[in-house]
Amino acid sequence: AAKAAGRRTYRFFDPAMEAQANLRRELEADLRTALAEGGFELHYQPLVDLRSDEVTGCEALLRWRHPVRGMISPAEFVPVAEETGLIEDIGQWVLRTACIEAAAWPAHVRVAVNVSPVQFKSETLSLKVASALAESGLDARRLELEITEAVLIADDDAALVTLGQLRALGVHIALDDFGTGYSSLQYLQRFPFDKIKIDRSFVKEVTRNSGSASIIRAVVSIAADRNMITTAEGVETDQQRDTVQMLGCTQMQGYLFSRPVPAPDLRTLLAADSVEDAA
Ligand code: C2E
Ligand code: MG
Ligand code: MG
Ligand code: MG
Repeated sequence: AAKAAGRRTYRFFDPAMEAQANLRRELEADLRTALAEGGFELHYQPLVDLRSDEVTGCEALLRWRHPVRGMISPAEFVPVAEETGLIEDIGQWVLRTACIEAAAWPAHVRVAVNVSPVQFKSETLSLKVASALAESGLDARRLELEITEAVLIADDDAALVTLGQLRALGVHIALDDFGTGYSSLQYLQRFPFDKIKIDRSFVKEVTRNSGSASIIRAVVSIAADRNMITTAEGVETDQQRDTVQMLGCTQMQGYLFSRPVPAPDLRTLLAADSVEDAA
């Protein structure tokens, strides 16, 4: 009998894993409810031109106020939305909402929208983008899509086709979080980007690590050759701002200028910005 007991399979039962799986299932159900009942909102973070000090764009960042758990970070729920396929519908909501809200901003301000690799793989992405533009009346040149290297690694040829379709619409393409992941400088040569966003991890180190500064300098130089904009992500201090400017970055984004803010606060910020320019 003792021997039989030794073969019981429940030793594979792991309570921690089970709890984790339950949490995910709950999160998935709650995401569906949020999508159906308007539980998401977008916050916007300004992108500032380092030569003119003007806000030339804003990145839309998804926010979810969970009824019980409060604000949940996209870093936590976007992966669940990707695994369950819900990111397709959530991403479409983000695109539509960002285009509609941006249509009310001054015409020189672009909106940047994050596109998940899962959305990018969909053959209908360019149709969905076109429909968000048509519905909002936003000029395609004012929409920028942020993609990550993950979409390039999976299937080069398919990625090139999709990028071509999107650029044919007139939208801009930014490579997000450059320097994390596989980060091959070859991507910058092979794919038609309008902008490279240099990951916050380099910007964080730039004032005390000459390696980070050299990498930024190299990216800036390739980008300049190919007429691409370079954005330094996560600029938090004056010193970081001065350094990335000195290294030749075109834009900055970060808490130093502004945290991501709700749409009404963003409109106030943009109005104040254009008054300042006029003065
Ligand atoms: P990301 O696209 O790289 O967005 C920039 C992130 O850096 C944002 O985090 C922003 O709040 C944060 N950030 C900006 N400036 C600073 C700074 O000075 N210091 C620090 N410490 N952080 C800064 P957030 O909003 O939590 O978003 C995290 C990630 O979630 C995004 O990274 C993006 O990958 C993903 N995400 C957000 N919204 C969407 C969306 O609508 N769709 C998809 N697919 N992904 C999204
Ligand atoms: Mg982004
Ligand atoms: Mg980023
Ligand atoms: Mg980043």
